[in-house]
Amino acid sequence: MAYDTIIRGGTLLDGTGGPGVTGDIAIQGDRIAAVGDLEAATAAREIDAARSVVTPGLIDAHTHADKTMMLYPGAENYRAQGITTVVGGNCGSSPAPLTDYYLQGYWEWNWWHDINPRAYYDEVVADLPPVIDAMKRHEGLDLDWRTFGEFFARLAEREPGVNLVPLVGHNAVRGAVMGRDYRRAADAEEIERMRTLVRDAMQDGVVGISNGLDYAPGGYADRREMVALVKEAANHDGIFTSHWRRTGLRYGMGNPVLIKGLREALEIAREAGAPLLQISHVLNGYSIFPESPDELLREAARLTLNLLDEAIEDGLNLYWDVIPNTNGGTLSGRYLAAGLAPWLKMSGSLEQLARNLAAPDYRKDVRDYLEAGKWYPLNPLANPGWAAGLVVASHPDESLIDRSVADIAAARGTDSLGTLFDLIAEYPESLGYPAPGSETAHRVFFEHPRTMVALDTFSVDDTYEVYRPPYLRPHPNTYGGMVRYFERFGRPLLGMEEAVRRVTGLPAEVFGLRDRGILREGKRADIAVWNPDNYRDRSSYTEPRRYAEGVEYLFVNGTLTLSEGRLLPETGGRILTR
Ligand SMILES: [Zn+2]
Repeated sequence: MAYDTIIRGGTLLDGTGGPGVTGDIAIQGDRIAAVGDLEAATAAREIDAARSVVTPGLIDAHTHADKTMMLYPGAENYRAQGITTVVGGNCGSSPAPLTDYYLQGYWEWNWWHDINPRAYYDEVVADLPPVIDAMKRHEGLDLDWRTFGEFFARLAEREPGVNLVPLVGHNAVRGAVMGRDYRRAADAEEIERMRTLVRDAMQDGVVGISNGLDYAPGGYADRREMVALVKEAANHDGIFTSHWRRTGLRYGMGNPVLIKGLREALEIAREAGAPLLQISHVLNGYSIFPESPDELLREAARLTLNLLDEAIEDGLNLYWDVIPNTNGGTLSGRYLAAGLAPWLKMSGSLEQLARNLAAPDYRKDVRDYLEAGKWYPLNPLANPGWAAGLVVASHPDESLIDRSVADIAAARGTDSLGTLFDLIAEYPESLGYPAPGSETAHRVFFEHPRTMVALDTFSVDDTYEVYRPPYLRPHPNTYGGMVRYFERFGRPLLGMEEAVRRVTGLPAEVFGLRDRGILREGKRADIAVWNPDNYRDRSSYTEPRRYAEGVEYLFVNGTLTLSEGRLLPETGGRILTR
């Protein structure tokens, strides 16, 4: 028998969690044609995997990749990590449906303020026509889809590098119906229109609905609306993924909600009869201030998991994912001054912000706003540890590097806010990064057999950045989060077999990908050949935009898209509609 490809002699970790076995895999067209001892067979392409593991292509259970795949269809950041499938449309945000309005995602920062200027919090819903213009002008992209069906057709033309599992976002649907008049509960007629959009999306092939109750416009929805829409998805066998309410709506909010937000997600799923609830980026359901000793963090994580385990015992079909990083995903500020993002934006440049901060009355205005808890990232009530979490990455005074604002404040005998102002005024170009936190709770979560992995980032190449204030770059998760998962959690806590299952067989089961996630004859040929000892995250906070290393070969639907460690122009991704 002559195959297209035979991968020979690798340690096969098949995605079920079973023990690795040495063997060969043959690929014919887009499928795995044979697994086992294929010594007698030949192939047009033979790959020696004797020193490598062979796994199903990895699956990222929670991304925003669909928001940027039209611009960065190659998905190089994912492929370099061995990822062949991403779940998109999370946190309530999806690229469709579009009506007369457009919902901002996570990446339009370079031009959003031209069409929708705001001093503090962005207005996230814009009229569609100026967005179409800006998208064309800045990105060269024709925003010419409205429905999911149209979006899928356009994306397929772009030949994506990885497979996309689509979800419809509640926030997108709500924005599409209510426009900018969303700071209220929807009436019956509006809910009906949202239901129609959800039904259309389900019929176009999305696998379910997501919500994001910490964001606008979704955070203004009442329970009736949320249940009605999850129920509509459920009527079409659609699952429910939930960015649970962790902080309360981020606009002048008060206390963090946390465990109540998890309960709310469980209640919505039960009331709506969702066939499956996937809780996004689980973290501790309890905050402990001011210090978080390990014992308490561990106990809080166990209590959080207890709630989820009880729901499972009660019969809820429940899974969740965790970001393998302690300081978030999506985008992060490049400069220390990004901590004062609204004022950096209004100042227009780092230098002007530094000049402004020389004025005591300007400082007082900024301080008053922050101390009133109006700016989410530095809210002293919801985030009293912000100063310990903001670290100086570059400064002419080298003694300050890798020290937090809190630490420098203590040494200088000034308060945290005053110290942040001083540091920016002294050296506006100072780079900053979010301090990594304790991984104790993460370890507890990853030990649970239902925990999957979420990088929570989007599809990009190695050039993307927000080049206007507040100057952001993709979070290092974007390029190395999966490596981090294997290094810090998967391998040491679970062993390779189970670590691989969490990012292959398990998510394939959860998202209904019946012919993926496992190395078996007849399944689609999404296959990674890699060496865990050479698998390396090359990103850092000062320069996140470096592709991971260590994946030797990567097949997406049988197409070789990475060979001998190098990304190829060939792509094989598909849209995995229901
Ligand atoms: Zn989220």
